[in-house]
Amino acid sequence: MTHDVVAATGSHVDDLGPEAVVLLRHPPTGVTAIVVVDNTASGPAIGGTRMAPDVTVEEVARLARSMTLKSAAARLPHGGAKAGIIADPTMPTAEKEAVVRWFAGAIRDLRSYIPGPDMGTDERCMAWVHDEIGRSVGLPAALGGIPLDELGATGFGLAIAAEAAAAAGAVVLDGARVAVQGFGAVGRHVARFLSQRGATLVAASDSQGALIDPAGLPVDELISWSRAGHPLVAFDGAGGADRVDREALIAVDCDILVPAARPDVITEANVDDVRTRLVLEGANIPLTAKAEAVLHDRGVLCLPDWIVNAGGVICASVEHAGGTRALAFAQIEETVRANTATVIAQSAETGELPRDVADRLALGRVREAMALRRSYG
Ligand code: NAD
Repeated sequence: MTHDVVAATGSHVDDLGPEAVVLLRHPPTGVTAIVVVDNTASGPAIGGTRMAPDVTVEEVARLARSMTLKSAAARLPHGGAKAGIIADPTMPTAEKEAVVRWFAGAIRDLRSYIPGPDMGTDERCMAWVHDEIGRSVGLPAALGGIPLDELGATGFGLAIAAEAAAAAGAVVLDGARVAVQGFGAVGRHVARFLSQRGATLVAASDSQGALIDPAGLPVDELISWSRAGHPLVAFDGAGGADRVDREALIAVDCDILVPAARPDVITEANVDDVRTRLVLEGANIPLTAKAEAVLHDRGVLCLPDWIVNAGGVICASVEHAGGTRALAFAQIEETVRANTATVIAQSAETGELPRDVADRLALGRVREAMALRRSYG
């Protein structure tokens, strides 16, 4: 690794990783790709391949570390990695296929990295990768994949985390008022699974705006509407709902707030507006460390991303091992429930932030795996 490449990973360099930072360039098109393999002590690293025009080495390194901790906390036989292809994901399909196939060929020998779908890539992209190099997760069902976004693996895990929080007395699910930021693969399903547990969806947002109705929004109709590609604010079946700016969702009075859209959406600047009892971190890194600390001091329970949103990677890991959907969901339930309960109990006992407990838990497991491997000695 050159000094510059290490520097570009920002503060994400320590005794854990990264093990490899790879920059790839495709001269005919000028497309550049980045792969950061953070740590593989527990096994080859599963991590999404993101396609976006503005993805950076630092962002990829930060997300790769997040995957190391998420996989370790879930005790998966995988480490953490992430990749970014710097390109417009809306390019014509034939061009996108050529770029993805080039990327796959370029990482053929980087066997410590198993690509998965992420922002800007989908199961078809993973099928192209698999076709080129025989390894990827998040495959179409026709190739033995478990369609985790269609089934709502991550949303299911978040609902299980809410059950664990309820068991610890942090919230009552029956009648709980839920606000969901982002109504995509994670947000739609968490709304559905929580409403099946007696909760009421009082607010939901997407990139174009938010709907708020303290009397409750019709979850199934809203999901069908949004799946058909319509913005939430144009939903005509929400008679009494307020249609507001998307940023207003953060301040909705609710019992459970689920940020499930983008990183860093709750910061020092808006944390004082938050009015909830429980934050389920559906997105990766949706709160800054400072915002989590402020909420902790106010008695709001923030359940950290890599503990509660691990459903997707657990599902991918089961797929990779040849397991079934039923096995994937059983493993998500067992793992997320146990980890959430541990984090809540230890945080209550010591007064530490849930994030600090989660860090300790995950880092302990990575180090345990490293101690068993000669190459980390
Ligand atoms: P998605 O693209 O399916 O949906 C994202 C949703 O967020 C869309 O409804 C979009 O309109 C909305 N959105 C974008 N910007 C917004 C904003 N500023 N305010 C409100 N809404 C906004 O993505 P997804 O798969 O649901 O993932 C959401 C987040 O969860 C991402 O950060 C992703 O990295 C993370 N995550 C996803 C999974 C998974 O299994 N899909 C697992 C773990 C973490």
